[in-house]
Amino acid sequence: MPDTRAIEALARLKQGNQRFVQDKLESATGLKAGWRQGLLDGQQPFAAVLGCIDSRAPVELVFDVGFGDLLVTRVAGNYVSSAVVASLEFSAVGLGVPLVVVLGHTRCGAVRLTLDKLESSSAQEPAHLQELIDQIGPAFDAYLKNADESQREVAIEKAVGLNVRSTVRKLATASTAIAELVQKRELLIVGAEYCLETGKVQFFTDED
Ligand SMILES: [Zn+2]
Repeated sequence: MPDTRAIEALARLKQGNQRFVQDKLESATGLKAGWRQGLLDGQQPFAAVLGCIDSRAPVELVFDVGFGDLLVTRVAGNYVSSAVVASLEFSAVGLGVPLVVVLGHTRCGAVRLTLDKLESSSAQEPAHLQELIDQIGPAFDAYLKNADESQREVAIEKAVGLNVRSTVRKLATASTAIAELVQKRELLIVGAEYCLETGKVQFFTDED
């Protein structure tokens, strides 16, 4: 069983996302007098999220959280790099969050670009963008070889999930410090996907 703090954090994110889906956001409007002052002595975020930079997937809004609640790292295609690992070590080791969520989303442009590049022999992208493609690509290379071209959009949606799962696996072993926390069950890393169409976040730990 994971840390009960991780379970509670997961529940809090699910409740926040439910409010978001129902257009009942509270966090941005429910600020009490003196809230800014209350943040000056430190922070006690309850979870960390690795999301995509996509402008349609703003993490704090999607989970209806406010100032001081989440440590958010956003990088195109939510893939693992040393900068991402450093931020998550800071989150888990430095600030002791019990939960890291890797949040992909439907219609992800980084995933679409990677699929396009895997299938075409066009010129390379700029070096750092090519690095993104090289990092994400292996997550669904095998799947793609069997993909039906007429089902292109289905392939992209499937690839989003595969990329999230790949990132979860890589993160768990990307750092000795993180691996130890996971092994001691003091840190839970879970994948999730934000659906642009409905606003709902599907966690890969459950069926709802
Ligand atoms: Zn994206």
